[in-house]
Amino acid sequence: MLFRNGLVLTMDDSHTVLENADVLVVDDKIAEIGPNLTAPDGHEEIDATGGILMPGMIDTHRHMWQTAMRGYGADWTLTQYFVWYYLESGKHFRPEDIYAGNLLGALEAIDSGVTTTVDWSHGLQSVDHADAAVDALEAVPGRFVLAYGNIQQGPWEWSTSKEFQEFYRRRIEGGKLAGFQMAFDVTGDPAFPEKAAFEVARELGVPVTTHAGVWGATNDDGIRLMHDGGFMNPGNVYVHAATLSSDSYHRIAATGGSVSVSTESEQSAGQGYPPTWQLRKHGIPVSLSMDTSVWWSGDLFSAMRTTLSADRAREHLEAHSKQETVTHHHLRAEQVVDWATRGGAKALGMDSTIGALTPGRQADLVLIKNDSSPVMFPLLNAYGHVAFQAQRGDVHTVVVGGRVVKRDGKLVDADLATARAKVEASIEHLRSTMGEDAWKQGMNPDIPEARILHNPYQYTK
Ligand SMILES: [Zn+2]
Repeated sequence: MLFRNGLVLTMDDSHTVLENADVLVVDDKIAEIGPNLTAPDGHEEIDATGGILMPGMIDTHRHMWQTAMRGYGADWTLTQYFVWYYLESGKHFRPEDIYAGNLLGALEAIDSGVTTTVDWSHGLQSVDHADAAVDALEAVPGRFVLAYGNIQQGPWEWSTSKEFQEFYRRRIEGGKLAGFQMAFDVTGDPAFPEKAAFEVARELGVPVTTHAGVWGATNDDGIRLMHDGGFMNPGNVYVHAATLSSDSYHRIAATGGSVSVSTESEQSAGQGYPPTWQLRKHGIPVSLSMDTSVWWSGDLFSAMRTTLSADRAREHLEAHSKQETVTHHHLRAEQVVDWATRGGAKALGMDSTIGALTPGRQADLVLIKNDSSPVMFPLLNAYGHVAFQAQRGDVHTVVVGGRVVKRDGKLVDADLATARAKVEASIEHLRSTMGEDAWKQGMNPDIPEARILHNPYQYTK
């Protein structure tokens, strides 16, 4: 397959950008990149003129099982999310509900040009739920990493069960998924009950992904316990890491971990200020994520845009508080494009195979092109265009491992009717189980009373 005449963001080590370049894909790999390539007879040619070719994007933290609840919690805070999923309604999810959410989330990912997604699957109340999660991920031709979790039990309970171990051997070892992580949070309880789960992860040789530095839920105590226990390993992913002290950031940096930043989530739910302005200072590697479709969506363009904006907003405000003016931004568009691609590959230990367009790497790529959009020209600043101008509706073609999964703006062989039927059945189940009042109330949390200030400047005739 030959992509002809595009603006190519390779995201290689020197971030090479090539204008009017071709990308040749042979089998599952990138074979060659450069001008005027010749391709073998019988190849498929895709005209990339006027478009941007970039590596497939990578989302390192997404609760895909929640996708069937798309938009339901748009006005939630983190507290309301916890009450709904952890305490009240999360337990109503059956294996088929996990399947429905994952199927929709997986289709949404590849449609948006996100070729690799970590399914932060913490609704796995039983191994049947886990089987359903994997079944859905395997039904969609993207790369998926299962991050196994279960909010209905302590991590020391599910991780040490015979069923979990058996599931791991049956579905993960030698299975088709792109990777596996264990997903659980560390509350900071001095007894450190999560230690048993870390030991299982160590035994299996799998990384841990954990919501760390989440205001009111996890904090420096958890980081200290992990570090003192020798469980902060390279390959661990710290999600949000928004309310941590410098000491915790030093521990993450020193142990080779990375942070998955979900800017839209941190801004809206309340985990803390999106931390890239701190992570930059501490030299901590960053990847991006969208968290959950119960509020947001699986759209990494949105992640890049909000992350750039939040970092800059903070930099300006910090300067203003000292009566100073920022004249040059530290965080550049180029950097967030790197985080959305290469940063994700590094976080998942997959940097030698995905995350960049270089010969020999897997052919996971995205063509951003929309000839009917006035936003696609002129293409003056490629990174800026991806971060601030393009959107997922402009994703023209998506390739995963050499296979075209989206062509000309449409998913290839995607059975959206089946996905819709499964999602509707799932919603019907939840709605009837909860009852109509609880369903409506959950979606429409009370608006707190506003305090109206007295205005001394009254209009008078
Ligand atoms: Zn999360």
